[in-house]
Amino acid sequence: MRGSHPWAHCYGGHQFGVWADQLGDGRAISLGQVRNPDTSSVWEVQLKGAGRTPYSRFADGYAVRRSSIREYLAAEHMSALGVPTSRSLALVFTDRVVEREEPELGAVVTRLAPSWVRFGSFELPASRNNFALVRKLADYVIQHHFSELTHPADDDISGGGVYIRLLQAVVERTAAMVAAWQAVGFCHGVMNTDNMSILGLTIDYGPYAFLDAYDPDFICNHSDPAGRYAFREQPRVALWNLVRLAGPLSRIVGADPEVDASSETLDAVTKALNSFSSEFSRKYVEIMRRRFGLSSTGNADLATVVQPYLDLLERAHTDYTFAMRALCDVPILLLLNKDDGGLEQHIDALAARSDCSRVDKEWRGDMRAFYEGVYGPRLAAQGVIDRDSATALGAGMRQANPRHVLRNWVAQDIIQHADKSDSDDVRYVDQALELLTTHAFSDNVPEHLKDMAERYAGTVPQWGEGLQCSCSS
Ligand code: AMP
Ligand code: MG
Ligand code: MG
Repeated sequence: MRGSHPWAHCYGGHQFGVWADQLGDGRAISLGQVRNPDTSSVWEVQLKGAGRTPYSRFADGYAVRRSSIREYLAAEHMSALGVPTSRSLALVFTDRVVEREEPELGAVVTRLAPSWVRFGSFELPASRNNFALVRKLADYVIQHHFSELTHPADDDISGGGVYIRLLQAVVERTAAMVAAWQAVGFCHGVMNTDNMSILGLTIDYGPYAFLDAYDPDFICNHSDPAGRYAFREQPRVALWNLVRLAGPLSRIVGADPEVDASSETLDAVTKALNSFSSEFSRKYVEIMRRRFGLSSTGNADLATVVQPYLDLLERAHTDYTFAMRALCDVPILLLLNKDDGGLEQHIDALAARSDCSRVDKEWRGDMRAFYEGVYGPRLAAQGVIDRDSATALGAGMRQANPRHVLRNWVAQDIIQHADKSDSDDVRYVDQALELLTTHAFSDNVPEHLKDMAERYAGTVPQWGEGLQCSCSS
């Protein structure tokens, strides 16, 4: 990049609940910031896997192709799904042999985010008692990314209130990000504080996975046998991580960071952290209401409609993405003549995408009872009472429930194509990108994507069930 002065960023982090001290960009090199002339938004451009940096420690600074393909695709895919995320600009395969469990070929991802500052960026100087640096970093982040916080109507806590407002803003963004993860069935896998963006963006795609079967206990990271980062734990872990960020920020609120935070500051910090749970629920129910086609306000829908349905999916380990997409047909099925058997066929299709040992007569009956006794009346109450309104509702729901997600077996299949490195196979990665972004919500895709789309929306092959990735990349 012309005029570029590359840098690597020094940060620390809590890994699996334990303070790991200094980590830093071990294989990411920032080239600079680029301003988009159309939107005037600023993007920090980073190379991942281009070689050693001052923070590489014992490692080589490189990245292998499989993990680079996974990060490259995931970031763009998540963006298309409406999840806050870093972005991908380019993927380059190198001929470098990178030593992992076995020798593999290397790759470099060019990735973008308005900032790559992490919770761990604040934790590291705080761990060294360098609160002047914590404050400098906080001021930088506020000036460049949270400028709306600097014009308060009421500046409480003697000028330090802006750091409380920063914490509050990060709480809100993080809650929104994790709510989007839970709604789409995304499991991050390594929610260490060094992987938590201060902007509430999904960053550092490693052993992540999208749920196949709806199983909240699912663990995508092979290196996490205890399930600290299991799917259902993600909101709790996000809050735990926010508490780690709150420590350094609370110390710079008062005039003298050498002195412990005042009780007034601690009350304000606690209030900000306590808002996580309501912020999370608010965002989650907002997204799920769109996915279920519910038009209303208030959180009651979560307990009366959303959770009972998820419980049914969990009981049979039904495929989550498939079930939510199929739900888009239910409003119209409920209005058709019962003798058509449409709803029965729909339940058969769900059963076929479930763990067959968990599907029984009772489950089928409970599914039907949910549709006819809960979901149907709920839709009728909002005026979905004829074929036109049901068709329109279903079409709207299809914009909120993707047909295609980057499942682990799909990523694995794409990687296998790319491994045979002639030009056709690079094109395959491009085509997968097109399917997972432009057409993630489409039933009908262009001719050149048809085979791929039908295969990837189909049943998970046996070898791909419950795939886990390790941290090795
Ligand atoms: P992660 O678990 O991927 O977030 O990585 C944790 C830390 O290890 C980060 O500071 C990374 O920059 C660093 N790291 C991971 N892989 C490599 C590598 N191949 N070379 C240098 N640093 C690495
Ligand atoms: Mg990382
Ligand atoms: Mg379970």
